[in-house]
Amino acid sequence: RNDEQRCAGCGVKLQTEDSGQLGYVPEQALQREPIICQRCFRIKNYNESSSITLNQDDFLRLLTHVGATKSLVVNIVDIFDFEGSLISGLARFVGNNPIVLVVNKIDLLPKVTNFNRIVNWVQRQAKEAGLKVVEVVLCSAKRNMGFERVLEVLDEHRDGRDIYVVGATNVGKSTLINRLIRDYSDLDAELTTSQYPGTTLDLVRIPLDDGTSIIDTPGIVYKHRLTELVGKKDLMKLMPDKPIKPLVFQLNEKQTIFFGSLVRFDFVQGERQSFTFYVTNAIQAHRTKLERADELYEEHKGELLSPPTKDELELLPKLTKHPIRVPKGGNVDVSISGLGWVKVNSAAGADLAIHVPKGVKVAVRESLI
Ligand code: GDP
Repeated sequence: RNDEQRCAGCGVKLQTEDSGQLGYVPEQALQREPIICQRCFRIKNYNESSSITLNQDDFLRLLTHVGATKSLVVNIVDIFDFEGSLISGLARFVGNNPIVLVVNKIDLLPKVTNFNRIVNWVQRQAKEAGLKVVEVVLCSAKRNMGFERVLEVLDEHRDGRDIYVVGATNVGKSTLINRLIRDYSDLDAELTTSQYPGTTLDLVRIPLDDGTSIIDTPGIVYKHRLTELVGKKDLMKLMPDKPIKPLVFQLNEKQTIFFGSLVRFDFVQGERQSFTFYVTNAIQAHRTKLERADELYEEHKGELLSPPTKDELELLPKLTKHPIRVPKGGNVDVSISGLGWVKVNSAAGADLAIHVPKGVKVAVRESLI
């Protein structure tokens, strides 16, 4: 029925079935003339972009033409899930174009954080991941922290270039783009969007007053993020909205901490020591003995140990164990993509086991804080 209808704004093929996919238009909006997709509608009427999503392979394929253009690439990542939201391989796809790494959600870090230290840490981590960037900027798109500096950095590197904004889902890409649109364009003028020439549908060009454009790209879905596996309700719980209050546990070996039924942390072997959990305070931690942990989980999953609820738990992959050895004198974080991280400052070393839904990324890194 809608097979041949296309959006008068961006040219995408229209569909009425899935509001999370490209070209969505509500059934009743088909009566309007001209017919535009919901994304163009929001940009036009509210100065607001809304993301659609793609997996990383399709996403990078979508960017292959960028290398042949003169552009500025703004890669936005979430400080709360740095490893999980970093786009590996991005550099290869954008040619010689400069990449600015915008690290969002710094409002979630504890108030006493040393931000220079964080910038240095990000620079080292990016380098290690093979991502060469011209600049690292910290900000909170939502709380309006560091945004002046973001604009300054973009101006320094813009030089008449179009700006491609890229990021994983939920890192705050839309929030940031909406801010940029407001800063770069005349609020009274009606914004228009158009399909980026030479590509298929998924890039939306938002022309700015100075003749350049911001190009909004689909959010990348990474299945290794816990935040991609849970339902909407639990997602809201997993994403903190206030600065994290780190949770310190003094543990003996053979003790276990549960975070709902989502993540289980075992201190298997080592001297008594403290572990600092940087996870959302909306999820309750339960401490138990390692030898009791299996039983407790079976008895209380989805109930005492929630989120998720019992029904939602059935939709999640089964918990899988990741053994981790923290070396002597190691000052590291164990990061759990989508949940947060655990700081281990272990003079004597420690053997840990992290249980997460199958597929969720668990990594050891230099400690952030
Ligand atoms: P997108 O999927 O990358 O386009 O991300 P959105 O802009 O839709 O934001 C995803 C979620 O993160 C929303 O719940 C936002 O409210 C939240 N968010 C965005 N920016 C920030 C930020 O700077 N700090 C915090 N705490 N949350 C943010």
